[in-house]
Amino acid sequence: MTLPEKVNAVRTVFEQLDARIAAFQNETSLHCKFGCGKCCFKADIEASVLEFLPFALHLYQNKLAEHWHEKLQSTTVPVCLILNPTQAGAGLCSEYVHRGLICRLFGYSARTNKYGKKELVTCQIIKTEQAPAYQSAVDKIDALDIPVMNQLYMQLHAIDFELAQKFYPINQAIQHAIETVLQYYAYRD
Ligand code: SF4
Repeated sequence: MTLPEKVNAVRTVFEQLDARIAAFQNETSLHCKFGCGKCCFKADIEASVLEFLPFALHLYQNKLAEHWHEKLQSTTVPVCLILNPTQAGAGLCSEYVHRGLICRLFGYSARTNKYGKKELVTCQIIKTEQAPAYQSAVDKIDALDIPVMNQLYMQLHAIDFELAQKFYPINQAIQHAIETVLQYYAYRD
């Protein structure tokens, strides 16, 4: 698969996932608090290179790849560099369309425990401020079409195992994604 084909394949996974999450939110009424973005301030978010390849190609196509690469290389802040703490609107992600898989899954997905049972993975704010809806979702989780985290990561593995299997702190994952795109086009442009 060429790099643009891999990016299209990742985007297809994201589009299908976003549609399932929208249906899950609709069915459970669980939702992010307007203007929140608290989960993005976590200093230990990890991601794969592949999930940020679409963002890296977008930057390359808009002649912003080197600029972002320099920013990422020089930053010492562990928090995601895409986060804009002063952004107005529903959330604080300045590149929401290009956010990674972990960003899409957090709050509206399940992991399976050692008994193979699905457990809803969501934030403390939703658990406390939307407690009845949260408990109702937990109680009927087997009847809900909830995305299961490791199944989504398996879909990315099938696109490019090398770029999907290793996890980095989020800023490094984005930086490596940009390097992957720059190397790819270094021999093609
Ligand atoms: S990419 Fe966007 S949604 Fe993901 S951690 Fe960064 S700011 Fe948050």
